[in-house]
Amino acid sequence: MSSPGIFDYGHGIFAVDSVYDRRLQTAIHLIVEDGRAAVVDTGTSHAVPRVLDALGAQGVAPAQVDYVILTHVHLDHAGGAGQLMARFPNARLTVHPRGARHIADPGRLLAATVAIYGEQETRRVYGEVLGVPKERIVETAEGATLRLAGRELLFLDAPGHARHHVVVRDGRSGHFFAGDTFGLSYRELDRDGRQFSFPTTSPSQFDPAALHRSIDRMLSYGPEALYVTHFGKLTTLPVLAADLHRLIDAHAELAERHRRAGAERKRLLIEGVRSLVLAERERQDWRLPREKTLEVFALDIELNAQGLESWLDAEGK
Ligand SMILES: [Zn+2]
Repeated sequence: MSSPGIFDYGHGIFAVDSVYDRRLQTAIHLIVEDGRAAVVDTGTSHAVPRVLDALGAQGVAPAQVDYVILTHVHLDHAGGAGQLMARFPNARLTVHPRGARHIADPGRLLAATVAIYGEQETRRVYGEVLGVPKERIVETAEGATLRLAGRELLFLDAPGHARHHVVVRDGRSGHFFAGDTFGLSYRELDRDGRQFSFPTTSPSQFDPAALHRSIDRMLSYGPEALYVTHFGKLTTLPVLAADLHRLIDAHAELAERHRRAGAERKRLLIEGVRSLVLAERERQDWRLPREKTLEVFALDIELNAQGLESWLDAEGK
């Protein structure tokens, strides 16, 4: 760690802790190349000062930021986009074509969040969520490329966690920015430097078959590392991918098992995801004790269960 809350991963790639929900839960990644910068996922509006500080620490002024890149528009990744864009006079924002209108007008994203958490809690967690003027938005469809001071960034369509998800391959390092497509990997769990990953099936577009394919597609490029929003740089990717494939199947099987459980379904899915977390802790010898593990995964257990419900509903199961 180069300074508190900033992680220097080499190749001009950094993570800034956005301190969403808790510390070391949500990362905002920076790519710095020859005095220009891109911000990959933004955290919430509350994280704006942290991003500006982290850029400043690399000698990058707001006017030297060329891109704000969104892997997808879930608010823990995109909530701060409008406020950041207002600080970066020369930046363009990139987003999957399916996500663009939600960034221009975040009303629907916010309404969905308010429906779950209520007005007050939404405001507390996300702050003021601003839209981004349409003319500053670049839609990054499958195969799109951009250059950051000559450094090529390649965008691949990556459905599975969300239909409007892209992953980004950095041409200089060969590494990927995977957003939520390569699961959750909290550094608190690491055991003697060994990392672990657990899928996120959060609402409302979980698609297990697509998620399997998106993971394999990234690995087909043979990256040595990739960066996940929750949290940071991952290596030993083939090992982690095998775990993810197994756990995605376990989530899908769990949902299938309870599809006709009626009013009990939500409770059974929460219990089921909780059991998957605890079983994985045992299997992998995660460093955290049982109760602490459940604390760290509390929000994810709830969201994974909700997402499985959405999937069953969407499939008409
Ligand atoms: Zn997400």
